Amino acid sequence: MQYFNFDPYSLPPEAEELRKEVRAFLEEELADYPAVLRSRSWSGKSAEFSRKLGKRGWIGMTWPKKYGGGERSFFERYAFLEEVLAYGAPVGSHWIADRQSGPTLMRFGTEEQCHRILPGIIRGESFFCIGMSEPDSGSDLASIRTKAVKTDGGYVINGSKIWTTGAESCDWMIALVRTGNNPENRHQGMSQFLIDLKNSKGLTVSPIKNMAGEEHFNMVVFEDVFVPEENRIGAEGDGWKQVTAELAFERSGPERYMSSIQLLIEIIREAKLQPDARAQEQIGRLVAHLATMRRMSISVAGKLETDANPALEASVVKDLGAVYEQEIPEIAHRIGRGEASMTALSDFEQVRAYLTQAVVSFSLRGGTREILRGIIARGLGLR
Ligand SMILES: Cc1cc2nc3c(=O)[nH]c(=O)nc-3n(C[C@H](O)[C@H](O)[C@H](O)COP(=O)(O)OP(=O)(O)OC[C@H]3O[C@@H](n4cnc5c(N)ncnc54)[C@H](O)[C@@H]3O)c2cc1C
Repeated sequence: MQYFNFDPYSLPPEAEELRKEVRAFLEEELADYPAVLRSRSWSGKSAEFSRKLGKRGWIGMTWPKKYGGGERSFFERYAFLEEVLAYGAPVGSHWIADRQSGPTLMRFGTEEQCHRILPGIIRGESFFCIGMSEPDSGSDLASIRTKAVKTDGGYVINGSKIWTTGAESCDWMIALVRTGNNPENRHQGMSQFLIDLKNSKGLTVSPIKNMAGEEHFNMVVFEDVFVPEENRIGAEGDGWKQVTAELAFERSGPERYMSSIQLLIEIIREAKLQPDARAQEQIGRLVAHLATMRRMSISVAGKLETDANPALEASVVKDLGAVYEQEIPEIAHRIGRGEASMTALSDFEQVRAYLTQAVVSFSLRGGTREILRGIIARGLGLR
């Protein structure tokens, strides 16, 4: 029987130094940024803001200097992320590239791909999206049908991807597609490709409206899209191994429990107007849970620093984190007096209205609750 391993780590002094610098920068840049936009958290986007972060060296912070990265520690990156998330800064344009596409390329891509692609990410000029889910394949990702067929100098791709966050504005997609078929083993015969979204013929990107009326994700249809050989990531057929590693990056950061943090801030502000014992008790609970999750999540960052594999612990943090993020609007409804409304005058009511609609998706994106619990059970040797 295996157990979770959340060794305690503390953020080192250089991470706390960086935190001060980031905080001062955010206060200067975003002093007038409205609360309801802050509540978009890492979904809020501004290409201009991403470029400003790039200039400061705050994208690709842990990556090698030879690509333009900062070679800083995962702890420094953690402190940076905590600050931008607590502030609700619009980091969405470069988020996926920084969190997972860049690390995927460094791990599985060629040196040529890294030199070609990573400097643009680091400057905050090159944005990425993830092409995994398909209309009939979500949790059961191994059932994807989008297919790449070998041709002269590359591959021709046909099929479709769905729920692709940011495809409308990104430069690149990393797509998981079928390059072969083995009825005996569905996990074989998949490969990952870099798809140039701005310059490929045969691609159609159509927005899908979410419950809050926003157009964040898309349907992407491939009709005879040519992808050159040099844009295949890793060996043909290694796609499954690569995406499972990528999903561990996707599940490990503070964004997995801080997405509703603006509402906690607004709850505290609201409770200060008319303090009562019930609100105090609820806020106390939320803050205590936040502190515990933070400690668990920093432990995952510590594992990344030592090259240990934190896939199991990252799944635990993401699952508990989504429960927590979804609980905050519930508590806001118990404490709040007025109607939650996007057109309300108070920040509290607007943020409450937005997050009430948004949190539903937090236990779906990046792997659903049921799937994560299955991974946790397997990690513990229970299945
Ligand atoms: C906001 C948002 C952004 C997203 N962005 C992206 C993106 O950028 N790129 C991308 O590729 N995808 C993206 N997705 C898609 C996301 O990864 C899928 O929605 C998710 O993996 C679930 O797949 P599905 O929607 O097909 O649901 P299904 O897999 O059909 O699941 C439906 C329900 O059945 C349950 N279920 C399924 N299988 C099992 C099982 N074996 N045991 C128990 N329960 C099970 C699920 O937990 C879920 O509750 C995004 C989704 C959201 C909500």
